[in-house]
Amino acid sequence: MNGAGEMLTGICLVTGAAEFAARRHTGMDRKGRGNEPYVNHLAEVANLLAVATSSLDAELVAAGWLHDTIEDTETTREELAEGFGARVADIVVEVTDDMSLPKDQRRQKQIEEAPHKSPGAKLIKIADKISNIRARIVPDPNEAERADLADYVAWAEKVVAGCRGVNAMLDQTFDKTAELARSTL
Ligand code: ZN
Repeated sequence: MNGAGEMLTGICLVTGAAEFAARRHTGMDRKGRGNEPYVNHLAEVANLLAVATSSLDAELVAAGWLHDTIEDTETTREELAEGFGARVADIVVEVTDDMSLPKDQRRQKQIEEAPHKSPGAKLIKIADKISNIRARIVPDPNEAERADLADYVAWAEKVVAGCRGVNAMLDQTFDKTAELARSTL
C-alpha cells in the first residue's frame, strides 16, 4: 500500500480504496442472475454515497468501496486503518456481519443494531440495501426470484428504518427502490 506515514486523502483515498477492494474481491461474483462481478456492487454503493453527500466525504466513499472487505475477504481492521485511516476502518468494522452466526441471527442483529450505528455506517447500510434490491429486480422473475425479492425488501425495510434521518436523498432513493421492487412482485 502507500508508504508509512503518507495517509491518503481526497481523490487518492477513494481511488486507493477502489483499487484495494477490486483486488481483494478478485474473482468473486454477485449472487443471482447475470453473475455480475462483485466489484460492480462496491462501485454502486460508493457512487450512491458520493452523490448523496455531494462529494463532500471522501472517507465515507472510501468506506463504501471497502465495506465488504473484512466480511468477505482476508482483510483486517488494522490493514484498513493503516492504509485509509481510523475512521474508514471503524466504519467498515461497524458494517461487518459476524459470519460465524447463522443467517437469521445476522439479519436480526442488523435490525436491532442499526439505530445505534454511526451516521456513516447508517448511510452505507442504506446504500448496500439499495444495491442489493436493485440486483434482485430482474425481468420476468420466476417464483423463487419473486420470493427472494419479497423477503429481501421486507427485511431491508426493517434495517433501513433504524438508519433513516441522516441523508434525505438516500432515504428517498431507498423508498423509490423498494417501491419499484414491490411493483414487480
Ligand atoms: Zn455490500
